[in-house]
Amino acid sequence: MNKKLSTATLCVQGGWTPRKGEPRVLPIFQSTTFKYDTSEQMAQLFDLEAEGYFYTRLQNPTNDAVAAKIAALEGGVAAMLTSSGQTANFYAIFNICQAGDHFISTSSIYGGTYNLFAVTMKKLGIEVTFIDQDADDDTILAAFRPNTKLLFGETIANPGCSVLDIERMARIAHSRGVPLIVDNTFATPVNCRPFEWGCDIVTHSTTKYMDGHATAVGGVIVDSGNFDWEAHHDRYACLTEPDPSYHGLIYTERFGKAAYITKATSQVMRDLGSIQSPQNAFLLNIGLETLHLRMQRHCMNAQRVAEYLQSDERVAWVHYCGLPGDKYYELGQKYLPNGSCGVISFGLKGGRDVAIRFMDNLKLAAIVTHVADARTSVLHPASHTHRQLSDEQLREAGVEPDLIRFSVGIEDVDDIIADIRQALEA
Ligand SMILES: *Cc1c(COP(=O)(O)O)cnc(C)c1O
Repeated sequence: MNKKLSTATLCVQGGWTPRKGEPRVLPIFQSTTFKYDTSEQMAQLFDLEAEGYFYTRLQNPTNDAVAAKIAALEGGVAAMLTSSGQTANFYAIFNICQAGDHFISTSSIYGGTYNLFAVTMKKLGIEVTFIDQDADDDTILAAFRPNTKLLFGETIANPGCSVLDIERMARIAHSRGVPLIVDNTFATPVNCRPFEWGCDIVTHSTTKYMDGHATAVGGVIVDSGNFDWEAHHDRYACLTEPDPSYHGLIYTERFGKAAYITKATSQVMRDLGSIQSPQNAFLLNIGLETLHLRMQRHCMNAQRVAEYLQSDERVAWVHYCGLPGDKYYELGQKYLPNGSCGVISFGLKGGRDVAIRFMDNLKLAAIVTHVADARTSVLHPASHTHRQLSDEQLREAGVEPDLIRFSVGIEDVDDIIADIRQALEA
């Protein structure tokens, strides 16, 4: 598919271009395996010497079409679907980190990612240092070590709603010869394409806006193809030196710009196996077909809701980068000029108890462990998604104990505001 097509067209038509007599709609290839005529043909596939499908854990045509659509939307060379956003972030890092390595992450990130980095990856011998994304360059540079392999952040942090200065982070990462990985879940490529600002690898929880209807858990890793692994040959020996699990194949030599994403598919996914089911990829694709329309409506509605909240005296504070005066307004204008997302965080006067009572009184907005779908939803991170974090970790992650995460849907905004008003009054 031509990369010059606009985002809206790619959302609708990217990834699947049927030929004569083929289905108009991307079919679900509900098959674990694929047939060959000779034993030799199959052997070549196993050696990565021929291209073709042979087992769905490695590749499946439905998944590949959806991955191609997302790669085109982000402006990358290729993408790989994963079973969840958690897997996407884990594999994106594990693809270039092993025991004894270190990486740096901003601290205001999704709670599940924080646990993955701080607890589970540590058990694998991979250490993380969390930094304040608003710290000055020198402070961030001081966190780098000789064994640091990458820098990680979220375009718009879940749930703190801070905006990452992607261009600055990319500059810092590249000055130390490491790639920048950005979780672009909340912005989506409709509102921000991190590769255009120097980011090297993008991840998503497709469970959120991309699916958009809360039907399928999934994730994706997209490779820009821009990071020069060979320029840092020894640091990325996993890509630049022979891989013993493929008869000594060298990813950078054989796959060039697609070295990183090919290794992710042919080695990490082959060995760890958290693929997205073709059925889920099919649902994700239907979601993607309206992503550009939904994001516009989410942003319009959220702007109105944020303005309403800001004007209500019972509201203590509101974080939404679309509000002039917000701490991240300027960064929002730079990276998200057409809108950020539908997620707003705010606190009520009276703190945590009032927050919980307010949420219980909402009628249209449902309390769900979900965010970023068509239906307005609400969550109290300190009691729910971020429950495992201590108060100090909560603050580090940009989560005040009274923070309400309000995910504005695509209903009529007047109905959403009326629901908030009645819950504030109750
Ligand atoms: C939800 C979320 C994840 C985790 O994704 P799952 O699909 O739930 O595994 C990762 N990053 C961000 C920003 C998220 O919002």
